[in-house]
Amino acid sequence: MTDLAVGIDLGTTFSVIAHLDSMGRPWTIPNTEGDLLTPSVVFFDGSTIVVGKEALKAAIAAPEEIAQFVKRDMGCQVYQKAIHGQHLPPEVIQSYILAKLRRDATRKLGEFHKVVVTVPAFFNEPRRKATQDAGALAGLEVIDIINEPTAAAISYGIQKGFLSPKGESRDKERLLVYDLGGGTFDATLMEIDGTHYNAIATAGDIYLGGIDWDQRIADYLAEAFMKKNRGIDPRENPAGLQRLLREAEDAKRTLSARDQATVTFEHGGDVVRVPITRQQFEEMTVDLLDRTRFTVVNLLEGAKLQWSDVSRLLLVGGSSRMPMVQRMVEKLSGRTPDCSLSADEAVAHGAAVYAGLVLSSAAGAAPKVSVRNVNSHNLGVLGEDRKTGRRRNRVMIPRNTTLPAKHTARFVTAHANQPSVVVKVVEGGDASGNDATKIGKCIVRDLPAGLPAGSRVEVTFRYGQDGRLTVKARLPGSGKEAVSAIERSSGMTAETLRSWNQRLQKAQGPLSLS
Ligand code: ADP
Ligand code: MG
Repeated sequence: MTDLAVGIDLGTTFSVIAHLDSMGRPWTIPNTEGDLLTPSVVFFDGSTIVVGKEALKAAIAAPEEIAQFVKRDMGCQVYQKAIHGQHLPPEVIQSYILAKLRRDATRKLGEFHKVVVTVPAFFNEPRRKATQDAGALAGLEVIDIINEPTAAAISYGIQKGFLSPKGESRDKERLLVYDLGGGTFDATLMEIDGTHYNAIATAGDIYLGGIDWDQRIADYLAEAFMKKNRGIDPRENPAGLQRLLREAEDAKRTLSARDQATVTFEHGGDVVRVPITRQQFEEMTVDLLDRTRFTVVNLLEGAKLQWSDVSRLLLVGGSSRMPMVQRMVEKLSGRTPDCSLSADEAVAHGAAVYAGLVLSSAAGAAPKVSVRNVNSHNLGVLGEDRKTGRRRNRVMIPRNTTLPAKHTARFVTAHANQPSVVVKVVEGGDASGNDATKIGKCIVRDLPAGLPAGSRVEVTFRYGQDGRLTVKARLPGSGKEAVSAIERSSGMTAETLRSWNQRLQKAQGPLSLS
C-alpha cells in the first residue's frame, strides 16, 4: 500500500485536513458534520470528549469544561485553564483535535498515519516540539512540520501551475504572506519559483487574531446592555460572555459583507438591540489593525526591502476577509492584494502537497521542490560577562538566518575547579537576556579536577531545516563533551509523553470522540 499524502492545518480557531488525489491535487476532507473546517475546541463532557462544532455549542452551557485557543499555550507546561480541576498539557488537548480529524478523514481515506502538520513561522522550538508530540499522542506519525506561510505559498504555486508538468509560469516571485487567523498573526516574506520555496524573513504576533476583533464588539454590546439594564454586565457571567462572543463573531462576519449589522442580545430576561456600522467597527479596532501594519513594516525594514521588491501580497487566514485588512495593505503597499487563495484551506492544501513531496522523495524520487526556512527568533547562550559579571545573551544564530544553520563559539569557564559546565540555551530576548525563553540546557559533567578558571568551552549550535535545535558543548583538551543534551525546561519529557500515551490509549474505550 502506498502512503496517502495528508496535511493538517492545526489552527488556533479552526483546523483543516486535506489530502492529495491521484492526480496530485489537494482536497479538503469534510468532517463527519459535513464541514470543511473543524473548530479547534474541545469539550470535556464527563468521560466523553467532544471536539469541533458540538464542543463550540457546549461552550455556552458549560464554559468551564471547554478548552479553546490551546495553540497559544503550546510550548507551556499546562493549558492555562484547569478542566475538572485538572491541568492538562496543551499537547494532550491538541491531540484530541488531531484524533478527531484523523478519525473523520479515515472514513473517507481508510487508515493512514503519516501526516504533515503546519505551524506558524514564528513558532519557537518548544512550540514546534509540542506540535510534533501532539501528533504522536493522536497516533499519527508527523513526517514533517511545515511553516504555514510556506504551505500557503506552495498552494499559490500549485494554483499557478508551478508543479504541474505544464507549469505556466516559472518566474521568480517575491511574496509577502499576510496571514491573519483567529488567534495569531503571521507575516512572512518568501521567494518562490517553480521549484524553490524560500522564506527570507518572518515576523508575527502570537496574541493577535480574529478573537481580538470579536472582543471589541463584545465589549461594545456589553456596554450597550449595561446602559439599558441597570449596569448589569453580562461579561461577568461565563455563559453570558460566551454568548456575547458568539454574537460578536457573527456580527463581525456580517460586517465583512455588509455595511451594517444589528445584534439582538438577551441576558437574564433582558434584551438589547444594538446596531453596529462597519465604520464604527473599524474605528473600534483600528489599533489592532495597526499592530499588523507595524509588524509588516518592520518585517520589510528588517529584510532591507522596499514594496517595489515585493511582487505579490498573498492574503490568507479567515480574518483577512475583513475589508479593513484589504484596504490597509493596499494603501500601505500600493498594490492590490491577491485574495485568490481559499483563505481557510490554502494552508492545509499546501501541507498535503508537501506531504506528497516528502513521501515521494522518501520513496527515492528526485525531489520536485525545495523548501527553505528561516529561524524566527535569535538563538543564544545565556552567560555572564567576565568583566562586569552581568548576565549576557550571546546570540549564536540570529533570527531570519536561512536553515539549516550551524555556529560554533568559544566561551570560558567562570571558576576554578568547576565540576561541570552548564550551557543555557535561550530563544529571543534582549542583550541581557530579558524576555528570553529558556529552551533547555546542555551540561558537560565530570570535568577533570583542577581545571583553571577561564578554560575554553566550545559550543556548537545546529539548527535543522525542521526548526529543531541540537547543541554540543566541548572542553577541548579535557576530552569531555556533551551532545544534544538539551534538557527541556518546558514541554513534555519523553517519559511524561510515554505515560500520557498509555493513558490515552487505555482511555480509547470510554472516551468517545465526536
Ligand atoms: P486559525 O488558522 O487561527 O485557526 P482561520 O484562518 O481559520 O484561523 O481564521 C479564523 C478567524 O477568521 C476567526 O476569528 C473568524 O471569526 C475569522 N473570519 C472568518 N471568516 C470571516 C469573515 N468573513 N469576516 C471576518 N472574519 C472572518
Ligand atoms: Mg491559520
